[in-house]
Amino acid sequence: MAHDALDAWLDQLEADTAETPTLREISERVLQTRHALLSTCLEAVIRQRYAQALQQTDAECTCGRRLFRRRFDAKAVSTLHGTITLHRPYFYCDVCQRGVHPLDAQLQLSEKYHQFDVQERTTRLGADLPFGLSADQFAHLTGLSASPHFIHDTFNAVGEAATMERVIPDAAAIGRRIDEARGDSTRRPVLVVACDGAMAPTRPPGGRRKKRGPGGWREAKGVRVYLLGKDQRVIHVASWHQIADKATLAPAITLLADRIPRDRVRIALVADGSEWIWDLLCAHFPDGEQILDYYHCAEYVYETARAQYGEGTLEAQEWAEATLTRLCMNALRDVSGGLLRMTPRSQEAAEAIRTFSIFLAGQRGRAGYTELRRRGLPRGSGGIESANKLICHVRLKRSGAWWLEANGNAMLRIRCAIYNGTFDQLFADYMAAHPRKKADT
Ligand SMILES: [Zn+2]
Repeated sequence: MAHDALDAWLDQLEADTAETPTLREISERVLQTRHALLSTCLEAVIRQRYAQALQQTDAECTCGRRLFRRRFDAKAVSTLHGTITLHRPYFYCDVCQRGVHPLDAQLQLSEKYHQFDVQERTTRLGADLPFGLSADQFAHLTGLSASPHFIHDTFNAVGEAATMERVIPDAAAIGRRIDEARGDSTRRPVLVVACDGAMAPTRPPGGRRKKRGPGGWREAKGVRVYLLGKDQRVIHVASWHQIADKATLAPAITLLADRIPRDRVRIALVADGSEWIWDLLCAHFPDGEQILDYYHCAEYVYETARAQYGEGTLEAQEWAEATLTRLCMNALRDVSGGLLRMTPRSQEAAEAIRTFSIFLAGQRGRAGYTELRRRGLPRGSGGIESANKLICHVRLKRSGAWWLEANGNAMLRIRCAIYNGTFDQLFADYMAAHPRKKADT
């Protein structure tokens, strides 16, 4: 069957191409026509491996009764290698009033037309590109078609399987990354736990008839954990981000604290000024070194310098450098005192000075960046905000779209899983939760 298909396909290919086609012309022609060949091959493998199941005349019901084949049912299934039609034996139990196609379970068929191989690829594409563009790229690269609507629906269904327990790597995976970071060093590697928020564009739900309300920016809270390997190389461990109230970050921190072997690493806690984040981090990692994110600090310094002394002036530059130096020496009291003594030159400057003062209040002991460096600890999380943007928000903010909170969160969970290296396991969970419906009488 497959050999005949190959012969026919080669003949057709020869007939379709010019006398002296370029490599690209041949390649494009192969891409467009290969499904005719490959779907036949795929079908041939199924026919060979499942010869018995395809001809099965009797089966056992879950109730123990012996069932006899009622008929063959045709089902068209779309795969990465084209569409084939399966004619599967159908059984029905009169007592249980339940029908079953045993082959579907053996092949682990999806109840959808596009099977799990297609669903996995389109979900990965959808995590990076808007759904319309995902459909275009999928068609372009595979010669197959899947609608943006299908990609979106599947994506959200996979997102449901992406629970926090699944998205965050398990203890064994975290342990392996710690081994990698440690290498042949005798010192325990530094493990950074960094918390931050980033704004995500959301919209309220609305129906076809009901006009939906205006969109708004909501904060997505997140935590990122990574290790510092040799030469301060960053080894990603875990990311978890959700558009949610601050209370919902707590279970993620709890889960992480549970899975991180704290005796095998030196823990550095990095966050911005919010006191509730510090409380949360310190409660779960009491031995962690507390570090006020340098990049957040620096933003306040430059903003205050600009407001008080003017954009790009020498005065502004000098003040910013002096202030950052003091912060590096952990002289927060001097910086706060200096801010108090400043005479604001404008309303804007007064506001900037006030905001910076509030930010610094209560942060004593969390700056000392020079000392941190001496001890091999980071001074911030490499700009956790830019890391967050890259890992999570680049897709949410991509097309100027406004996200329903549930869909935005599904997107964040799947993107985190891809970066965390846990996507394959969670896709397996999704497949197990979405088998072909058993009762289709
Ligand atoms: Zn039965």
